[in-house]
Amino acid sequence: MDGGSGGLWPILLLLLAVVLVPTACLLWFMSAAVRNERIAVRQKLSDAYLPQFEATARRVNEHWQRKAAGLSDAAAGAPPAQAFGRLVLDGVCDSAVIYDLSGILRYPRNAEHGVGGPEPDTRRWAAARNLEFARADLAGAAAAYAGIARDSEDANIAARALQAQARCLTRAGQTEAAIEVLAGPAADPSAESLADLAYRDARDPQGRLIVPSAQLMALELMGDPAHPRHAETLERLVARLADYAEPALPPGQRRFLMRRLEEIVPDQPLPLAVAAEDLAAEYLATGPARPAFASLVRTSLDGLWALPSPDRTVVALLRQERIAAEVGSVVAAEMPLTEASVEVLVAGQGDAEPEPFLLVSAGEYLPDWHLALHLAGPDPFSAATNRQIAAYLWTGFLVMAFTALIAAVVGRHLLRQLRLTRLKNDFIATVSHELKTPLSSTRVLVDTLLAGNYRNQEQAAEYLQLIARENERLSRLIDNFLSFSRMERDRRAFELTDLEPAEIVAAAADVVRSRFESHDCRFDVDTAPDLPAVAGDRDALITVVLNLLDNAYKYSDNDRRITLRTYAADGHVCFEVQDNGIGMSKRATRRVFDRFYQVDSSLARSAEGCGLGLSIVKFIVDAHGGTVEARSEPGKGSTFTVRLPATGRASRPT
Ligand code: ADP
Repeated sequence: MDGGSGGLWPILLLLLAVVLVPTACLLWFMSAAVRNERIAVRQKLSDAYLPQFEATARRVNEHWQRKAAGLSDAAAGAPPAQAFGRLVLDGVCDSAVIYDLSGILRYPRNAEHGVGGPEPDTRRWAAARNLEFARADLAGAAAAYAGIARDSEDANIAARALQAQARCLTRAGQTEAAIEVLAGPAADPSAESLADLAYRDARDPQGRLIVPSAQLMALELMGDPAHPRHAETLERLVARLADYAEPALPPGQRRFLMRRLEEIVPDQPLPLAVAAEDLAAEYLATGPARPAFASLVRTSLDGLWALPSPDRTVVALLRQERIAAEVGSVVAAEMPLTEASVEVLVAGQGDAEPEPFLLVSAGEYLPDWHLALHLAGPDPFSAATNRQIAAYLWTGFLVMAFTALIAAVVGRHLLRQLRLTRLKNDFIATVSHELKTPLSSTRVLVDTLLAGNYRNQEQAAEYLQLIARENERLSRLIDNFLSFSRMERDRRAFELTDLEPAEIVAAAADVVRSRFESHDCRFDVDTAPDLPAVAGDRDALITVVLNLLDNAYKYSDNDRRITLRTYAADGHVCFEVQDNGIGMSKRATRRVFDRFYQVDSSLARSAEGCGLGLSIVKFIVDAHGGTVEARSEPGKGSTFTVRLPATGRASRPT
């Protein structure tokens, strides 16, 4: 379409703008709506979850309130050590510190037990010591200590004497005898030993219980766990260490014995609260103030929290993991969710990752703690919203593409209409202009003849010949106009039959011959023999050749040399019209087949023509499946070649 793409773009761009701008606005509005919807959905969801979540936080708080109250109950009426033992061994807390109501530390505290009775009988003790240390008479000393033990009324003194006896026996190498004194006799039940119940609570001058120390010493002497007395002795000592009932072991002694025991039997897990004792000691070593508030408070030990009972006589020590686990189990019982999970968070330990859907405080008992609700899996709402957005976007794009397509079709149609209107106007103007000249010249000649204004018959015949030529030219002009008009309406239906190229050439040459064969023009027709037939419309193809010949004549000056060549090449038949005329520039050569195109040269201007001839040629040749090309050089001439496919059938020889 000539000039079509040039005019199409502004209209297309306009249509695109008309389509794109509202669509883009629409998309923007849609995405804003989707975002808002997302926020609304989240809000709705959090409204749905929040009451349950807050109720859970209250349950958590109540749990800790109950737990704090339970601390006082556990400690109520029990001696401090026993209270500690209960709390720790029952698993209420990781460790505990016990105060009395006036805030004085009761457990763990070392110097709370009185010393173990009066000074020993100095004379007998002095004698026994003399034997042991000065004389190194260990057997004698052992016997002397045994005597003291036997005769002493005081259990503390007797126990100390037995301890000294065992020491002498050990030093004398009588290990088994020493073990018997320390851990009780295996054979002779009447023999004096520390296993006797009478010595159960005996203490040394520092307040330490003698029997557990003796049992430890016996275990050390036995060495090998396979010793027949080992298991029984160990069992007794462990029972004593785990027993927090009064009279209790001083905490320092208890910790010492536990530690030693762990060294002696490293492979055997002992049911002892070693860690709890250590933790309490470690905590007290930081010199803590008794917590003032009834809530979980951070201690100066890393990850350790203190929970005081309401009366603050008990301060339970809890490790962070334990608190999180306990809170977690309360939450799990309260909110058995599959679509969400709850994270327990401590303040100052980084933010929850990913950002929680809801975050609430765990209550006044856990002031630094929070519960974070996470929805399981990827955020279902954002996924849904994203799907929605994608659907909107796709719809938007499809609508845009569809509208753009419609716009293109409409634009094309509009352009075509525009072009047709323009063509019609050009056509009318050209037709009127072109018809005017031959008509008026014929009228003048006819008027002259009618008026009898001619000299002789010869002149009359000359006028008539002029009239006939003008008439012929008019007919050709009208033929061209009609072909063009039909062509524009695409109504030109060609009747294709097998044609002999030579016949077409001859017919066209006959039409122009009288005109071409004059003193200033040489016209050669060079037709190769045995040309194959072409499928074509006879009249249309004659029009093609005539147009080319006509142009060759029109656009040549004096001394014209025009050749019409016809030959076969590559399965085609070529009709070639060559002239030695004014020629054309390269640019003009490219455009000569456009409708109404005329090279703006004086000769082209002065020659009759309307710029339709070559476009008709191209239309007809295209409809025959052929090609037409122009080669030209300004001032040297032009060659137009039409190539039509040969049908393959040989044409009759001319
Ligand atoms: P017109 O009716 O003007 O001859 P055409 O479509 O036949 O229209 O030709 C278009 C233009 O191409 C002409 O106006 C002329 O300028 C140029 N042209 C065509 N044939 C020749 C030729 N043989 N030599 C030089 N110029 C030519």
